[in-house]
Amino acid sequence: MAEVRPHAHDRSLPPEAAQASLGAAQSEAVSRVATLHLDGVAKSYGVGTPVEVEVLHGIDLTLQQGEFAALIGPSGSGKTTLLNLIGLLDKPNAGRLYIAGEDAGALDEMAQTKLRGRAIGFIFQYHYLLPAFTALENVMMPMLAARGAVDDAMRERAADLLARVGLTPWRDHKASDISGGQQQRVAIARALAMNPLLVLADEPSGNLDTENADAVFDLMRDVNATSGTTFLIVTHDPRLARRCDRIIELVDGRIVSDQPNRDVVRRG
Ligand code: ADP
Ligand code: MG
Repeated sequence: MAEVRPHAHDRSLPPEAAQASLGAAQSEAVSRVATLHLDGVAKSYGVGTPVEVEVLHGIDLTLQQGEFAALIGPSGSGKTTLLNLIGLLDKPNAGRLYIAGEDAGALDEMAQTKLRGRAIGFIFQYHYLLPAFTALENVMMPMLAARGAVDDAMRERAADLLARVGLTPWRDHKASDISGGQQQRVAIARALAMNPLLVLADEPSGNLDTENADAVFDLMRDVNATSGTTFLIVTHDPRLARRCDRIIELVDGRIVSDQPNRDVVRRG
């Protein structure tokens, strides 16, 4: 057991200074809590059937707040499966998964849903917007889901997010009436609606042309830089991976390399 000992010099500090040093110690402890931490996470499909197969094997991974990481790897290597586990859309068969220090696997469904809504934003290859609703309404959907009703503050925040993705003129257009690149930008605004700690993007520019893919990527980098939002981005595109700060490579359900991106480091 650790020895409990009063800090003699603390008693000589005026109360404000003692408070300040406590505050610093606390914030240091908080900053040590990773946004995401996976410890030995494994995933099998078809458990208990003749076709049972383990597709992720003992994944260890930590993302600190503000990281901007690419997840690359061949098709079928388990990238989407991993994102689904991290996003609490599916459950691992082994290992532990912590989001902002919280042991997500230990939470019941309801608490997981709450944590997902509060902490995680999703951007998929296909935007999954609701076509009959306007851009603004689509961005407000997660707020509606979390709060049960939309108020003026939410409407304003949704409008701000659309402005940020350059879509103010299309705010009241139906999702079905704007271009693919614009739809994906709406999806990014929607992913940011609840100001998540972590954004998970699964080939977010996979079905866009180069110009729109670059714009979508620029936008994510901008959000990362200005809001400190952590990003984990699955991409097939080496050009886009090279614009991330860290590149994590998955092969056959294992992380085979995980490195700071030298190009970025050199430029920075
Ligand atoms: P990636 O996103 O890297 O292409 P996936 O995570 O989609 O890879 O798939 C990893 C492996 O898991 C593949 O072999 C795929 O066939 C298998 N797989 C994915 N989803 C399921 C599922 N629901 N049932 C059974 N096997 C699956
Ligand atoms: Mg995939």
